[in-house]
This record gives sequence, structure tokens and C-alpha cells, in this order.
Amino acid sequence: MAKVLPTPPRVGMVSLGCPKALVDSERILTKLRAEGYEMSPDYAGADVVLVNTCGFLDSAKEESLEAIGEAIAENGRVVVTGCMGKEAEIIRNRFPDVLAITGPQQYEEVVAAVHEAAPPIPSPFVDLVPEAGLKLTPRHYSYVKISEGCNHRCAFCIIPSIRGDLASRRPDAILREAEKLVAAGTKELLVISQDTSAYGLDLKHAAYPLKGGGEVRAHMTDLAAAMGELRTPEGETPWVRLHYVYPYPHVDRIIPMMAAGKVLPYLDIPFQHASPKVLRAMKRPANEAKVLERLQAWRAIVPDIAVRSSFVVGFPGETEEDFQYLLDWLGEAQLDRVGAFKFEPVEGASANDLPDPVSDEEKQDRYDRIMALSARISADKLAAKVGSTLDVLIDAVDEKTGGATGRSKADAPEIDGEVHLRDASGLKPGDIVRANIEESDEHDLYGVPA
Ligand code: SF4
Repeated sequence: MAKVLPTPPRVGMVSLGCPKALVDSERILTKLRAEGYEMSPDYAGADVVLVNTCGFLDSAKEESLEAIGEAIAENGRVVVTGCMGKEAEIIRNRFPDVLAITGPQQYEEVVAAVHEAAPPIPSPFVDLVPEAGLKLTPRHYSYVKISEGCNHRCAFCIIPSIRGDLASRRPDAILREAEKLVAAGTKELLVISQDTSAYGLDLKHAAYPLKGGGEVRAHMTDLAAAMGELRTPEGETPWVRLHYVYPYPHVDRIIPMMAAGKVLPYLDIPFQHASPKVLRAMKRPANEAKVLERLQAWRAIVPDIAVRSSFVVGFPGETEEDFQYLLDWLGEAQLDRVGAFKFEPVEGASANDLPDPVSDEEKQDRYDRIMALSARISADKLAAKVGSTLDVLIDAVDEKTGGATGRSKADAPEIDGEVHLRDASGLKPGDIVRANIEESDEHDLYGVPA
């Protein structure tokens, strides 16, 4: 039986006020879109309506109150944010049914209110952000979604039929968002999309003027380079981490940026398989790329580059020989992080019609074998870091034990490993510290601030 996906919740947005308020609205919507919410162009189709208000002048306040009144009348489920949120009393008196009121730039609160009003539906089949990431990301890292949809038609995937073909955001708007995030305390930008390497194809890679002068081309390499030029208020380069990168030739141009410290030495490349036969049946993009040679060339330039990938086991027609090919390939590729999924038919995916399904027992067996191999590789790679000194971005501190948990440049939040630090009192989330690595296991590192 093919799995039927639930319909994602839909959010309507009324944005009033100045350009700054508009940027706030964009940021809230980007966050919600990254979490899988759909946007509704009208009141009727929305599960919740967000009204971003302006309270600068009395006339603007009146306009905001009218907009709230209209949203209540047309939809009934309304969350208010923005400048007028500072005058919650006035809003509550006039509209007692408003679900939540938050003030300007209270992104976490407004997104939490939307979660409450229309809970997100995590789905491993379509989400870009891991399920655990659906909690609000702390201020020190932020997902930046650069495009929506996808031009490929992988046989196991239904994203193009749900989200449509590739639709890239304007690079100047992405950079403006990234700039604001970094100015507000973000230390790490996680670039996400369905196909980051294809970014800007639909915009014909055109150049867009930047507000402060100059221009930026709608191309992955130019966007990454421009993000690498941003600076935190402390004058540091933010960590720029690229996810969902397909190994098209131009990815080679990102590697020198990693060597120059502008982009993190990390690539998340969803290979999904290694056997040419299975990749063809999956209709995967860039499946002809000579990946092992490319990996070798990248490591020659950036020896500490961390490569993460995901794989599907038990795809229809995958033989034991194909699977063994994948294991041998992984043995050579020595990827730092590997996630695996057992193939599952999702309603609407063309792979469902393919012959020769793999039995559940076989799928489980292959899953266990690929996970065991990648755990061994990961353990060896992490053991090789013992004795080194790494930059660690602190995610959480434990005041009771005086310890802290963070991540090295090789670890994306929620999906990769962590670095556990002892004797780390005085640190706070968002700090980047040097740490001496003392121990390791299959997934994590253990150490002490240097
Ligand atoms: S590249 Fe393939 S798997 Fe990824 S979103 Fe596009 S169609 Fe789906």
C-alpha cells in the first residue's frame, strides 16, 4: 500500500507597514515555509491568518485594527504580530477572539503561535528540516531556504508534484534575509532547498542589484561567496553550511571557498545510491558524475571536508549485487555521515509501478548492514580527530554539570553528531570556542575548551 501524505497546514498573511515590517513578514514566512507550511492567497483557504501590524501613526493603528477585524470576520483564526503587538490591550478589547498577540521581531513567539494554531505535520518524505528541527531553531543558527520545488523527477519522490518545478528566490532578497539574521545573532546559516546546485536556473542566473551597491548573480556559487562575505556584529564570518547539493560540475568552484574559510568545509549530497543501474532506475540527477574521483580531488584541496549523504535501500529491482556495489562504494568513499532509509512507496511516486519489489526482511537486512558499515567508518573518522583542536559552536550548556554541548564544522544541527565539552562553565549558546578533543565514539566527540 502506498503511503498517503497528509495535506500541510496553510497560512494566510496580511502584511502592513514599513519595509522593515515586510522583511519581518518575509522572515516569518521563510521559517514557516522551511517547516513545510503552505501559503494561502486568500482567507478561505487558510488554517490560520497572520496579521503583521503597524502602529507608527494613529491612522496606521486604525488600518491595522481594520485588517485584524477583516481577518477575524473572514477566517476567525488570527495571530497578530508586529508593532501594534505592543498594544495588546487595545487589540484584545476590540477582538477578544484573537489567538495570540506578539510584538515586533518576536519571530520565535509568532512561529510558536502558528504551531499552536495549526500544528506542523512532519513528513520525512517532503521535509527539508529534520523533524527534531521543527522546534524553533535557537537564534544562533537559522535555515535559509533559497528555492522551492524541483525540476527533477526522481522515481521515489513526489515533491515536484506537490511543490512544482524549481522556483528560486531572488538572490538579493536571500542575502538581505541572511544579513538580518546574522545581525540579529545568527552564527550559522543553513542553506536549504530541494536542489541547491540548481539554484537560479529558472532566473537564468541573472544578476540582481544589491542595496548597498554592486550586484549578485542568481547562482549557487555567487550566493555562497556573498554569504561568506557577511560579518557578525563581532566581526566574525558566519558559518555557511550547504545542504542538498547535487554534484554538478560547478560544485567544484565551492571547494576553494571552503579552503578560504568563507563556506564551511561540509557538503550534504543526497547520493541515494551508488549502483549506476539503481541510480538510472531512480532517475537521479547528476548520476553520471565521477563521484569517487571528485571526492578525492575535493579532499586534496580541503583535507578536512565533511561529506554527509543519505541512501535508499531496497529500491525496487535492487539486487544483492547492487547493494554490495553500494557497500563497496561506501568503503571507498569514506563519507563522514550517512543516513539510510528503507524504500517505501509514497502515493503518486512513479517507483510504485516498478517490478521486482524487495521484501521487507531484505530491506531491513540491507538497512542494518549499511548502518553498521557507516557507523564503523564514522567511528574511525572521529577517532582520527582525537588529539586535535577544533572550533565548536555551543548549542546548549548544562549549568549543573558545568558541561556544554556543541558542534564542530563537520556537524549540522539535528542530523549529525555533537561535541560534548567538560569544564565549560561561562559559555553560552552561540559562542564559538576552540576545544581540545580527548575522546570519540561512533557519532560524537568529547573534549574540553582549549
Ligand atoms: S532531486 Fe529528486 S528527490 Fe530531490 S526533490 Fe527533486 S525529484 Fe525529489
